[in-house]
Amino acid sequence: MVDRIPLIAGNWKLNQDHLQAIALVQKLAWTLQDGKHDHAAVEVAVFPPFTDLRSVQTLISAEKFELRFGAQDVSQHESGAHTGEVSAAMLAKLECAYAIVGHSERRQDHHETDAVVGRKAAAALAQGVTPVICVGETAEDLEQHGASAVPVRQLREVLAELPASGEVVVAYEPVWAIGSGRAATSEQAQQVCQALRQAIAEVRGDEAAAATRILYGGSVKSGNIAGFMREPDVDGALVGGASLDAAEFAAIARYQ
Ligand code: PGA
Repeated sequence: MVDRIPLIAGNWKLNQDHLQAIALVQKLAWTLQDGKHDHAAVEVAVFPPFTDLRSVQTLISAEKFELRFGAQDVSQHESGAHTGEVSAAMLAKLECAYAIVGHSERRQDHHETDAVVGRKAAAALAQGVTPVICVGETAEDLEQHGASAVPVRQLREVLAELPASGEVVVAYEPVWAIGSGRAATSEQAQQVCQALRQAIAEVRGDEAAAATRILYGGSVKSGNIAGFMREPDVDGALVGGASLDAAEFAAIARYQ
C-alpha cells in the first residue's frame, strides 16, 4: 500500500484581492501552526485568484509557511495570441505547485470540454505543475446514469490527453453538492472515488492508481470532513466556501 499524503485544498474562487489574500494566508498559517502538534501529516494548499498569486508566493516563501498554493485554472496554450490567458510556465515561475483544471464552474461558464480540460492538464504537467483534475455529475446525470458514470467518463477523456506518467490529483465534485450546503454522503463519495481509482488503474496502471490522490469536493465543512477522510479512496478535500474562513479551513485540515 502506498501512503498517500492527504491534501486539503482551498479554492477561493472569485474572492479576495491581493491584500485580503495576504491577511487570509497569514491567519491560516498561524492557526495551523498553533494546532500543529495534534495533527498528522496533511498537505494544505490554497488556490487564490491569479492576481493574488505573486503576493501569496512572496509571503509563504518569506515566512517559510508550510502551505502550498496553486492557480484556479491554466491555459492550454504555451504563449502567443491568446488574450486573457495565463500559461503553465508563468505559474511554474511563481512556484505554483498546482493548477485546478476542469472545475464545473469553468465547464459551465466557459464551455470547457473534457478535451480542453485534458490539454490544460497536459500543459500544466509539461511545466511541472500538478493538475487538479475536477470531474463530477450534475443532479440530472445522477438521476439518469447514477453517480459514477459521468465522472469516470470525464476522467478517462482527460487522461487520454496526458502522457502515461506524471503526478495528477483528481477531485470528485458532484455539481449538485457544490455551494449547495448538501454534501454527498461519505459512502457516495467513496463509491465514486473508488470507481475513479479503478479508471486510473486501467489507463495508467495499478502503481499510478495507488499513488494518485483523489479528493472529494462539494459543501465540505469542519462538521463533515472526518467522515469523508475515513473512506479508503478519499484522500482529501477541495473546499470552496469554507476555505475563506481561516479558522474553519484550519479545522477542516485538522479533521481527525
Ligand atoms: P463548496 O465548493 O465547498 O463551496 O461547495 C467546492 C468547489 O467548488 O470546489
